[in-house]
Amino acid sequence: MSPEKVVIIGGGAAGLMAAEVLCETHEVHIYEKGKALGRKFLVAGKGGFNLTNAIYGEELYAKYQAPSFLQTALSGFDTKACRQWLAKLGIPTYTGTSGRIFPEKGMKPIQVLQKITDRLHQQNVQFHFQHEFVSFNENKQVVVQCRQQEITLSADYIVFALGGASWSVTGSDGTWTNAFNKTGIKTKPFQASNCGVNVAWPEEFKSAYAGSPLKNMQVSINDFSMKGEVLITEYGLEGNAIYPAVPEIREALKGKQTVYIQLDVKPQNTTDQLLDKLKGKNVQPKNYKYDFKLNALQLALLKLYTTKENYLSPELFCRQLKNIQIPITSLRPVEEAISTVGGIDTSEINPDFSLKADPKIYIVGEMLDWDAPTGGFLLQGCFATAYCAGKSIIAATKFTKL
Ligand SMILES: Cc1cc2nc3c(=O)[nH]c(=O)nc-3n(C[C@H](O)[C@H](O)[C@H](O)COP(=O)(O)OP(=O)(O)OC[C@H]3O[C@@H](n4cnc5c(N)ncnc54)[C@H](O)[C@@H]3O)c2cc1C
Repeated sequence: MSPEKVVIIGGGAAGLMAAEVLCETHEVHIYEKGKALGRKFLVAGKGGFNLTNAIYGEELYAKYQAPSFLQTALSGFDTKACRQWLAKLGIPTYTGTSGRIFPEKGMKPIQVLQKITDRLHQQNVQFHFQHEFVSFNENKQVVVQCRQQEITLSADYIVFALGGASWSVTGSDGTWTNAFNKTGIKTKPFQASNCGVNVAWPEEFKSAYAGSPLKNMQVSINDFSMKGEVLITEYGLEGNAIYPAVPEIREALKGKQTVYIQLDVKPQNTTDQLLDKLKGKNVQPKNYKYDFKLNALQLALLKLYTTKENYLSPELFCRQLKNIQIPITSLRPVEEAISTVGGIDTSEINPDFSLKADPKIYIVGEMLDWDAPTGGFLLQGCFATAYCAGKSIIAATKFTKL
């Protein structure tokens, strides 16, 4: 009996993982609208290339918004399994700061991608470049376009892995939502995640400090807190202490012109410890820099967002050090974001990532509406959903053949 045919649409991280799982048991075809595979994967590789993270179990699940939706996938292919898979492909990894897992030093992103695709070539996965998914026809079959010609695809199973909507130059532009909406599959509008935030800096402050980092900060909003680095930019703030706060900021901005985040420039000290520094001393505002070991940027921020009365009172100033209120006006545009939320509504999806409306169609990766912070959790989520879908197809296929 000839193997069943699986069509995967989208040749990014999730599509490649689906092919990896299925290539030994099925005839696998990848349709990709661009001329190459994994372009966003390569973009990710330009910064700190976090392939996954060292945490696992409950700690891992808690990193994801919509954890119950993703938990089965994340336990079926967790961060340890991800590292084992990478090692098997010849991609050694190491654990960096905050548990981030990187490819071994000296290994370039293109080499990582090559190792993943080499195995797919060896297993005769067939690649169809410049084929763009455009619609479902009246029989709900998938239609792709290649050189202005429309082609209807037939397959036993279809896996969609079309990505989110940021960095459209990499191919993931989110235009596919129309085709799904027309067949009655609900989608949510894309919104930026893991992105910078806009702050209306005064010109003088911007020209003096844009590009300067604030290290060892604590960013808080509502019940959320994160320690790390904050970078001052022309438009506002970004950095590893800002990105994880974006879901809270996004929620808080609903219907509001401005929301405030709290910046603690002395997270290593309690307010009482800071107040102790005042005891027995005649602390003067002109000496704050030395008394509290503040740099020029920290002082400039404090001056910007502290009332004169609070600035001139050493005690009130102490309290201000742990609570600078920064006004955020909006998130940066979707196009610039590291990842997006929105896409296929999770209520449309079965636990194995097949569509409730057609269980032979699977949806994986960032095109689903879930969220996670940077640190390897995005790729891990994409890999895990695709792995789960692939395993479900194998299980269904065995069942059919029995
Ligand atoms: C600057 C940056 C840095 C990042 N760094 C990290 C990191 O260090 N660690 C981490 O975990 N994550 C990181 N990410 C996020 C991570 O790269 C993505 O979450 C992940 O690549 C998404 O995988 P995907 O397969 O779902 O989608 P994509 O990788 O976007 O792939 C989707 C594919 O589908 C194709 N496609 C789209 N529409 C169609 C269509 N209609 N027809 C046919 N093909 C189509 C696209 O061309 C693309 O090739 C980063 C992202 C960015 C932008």
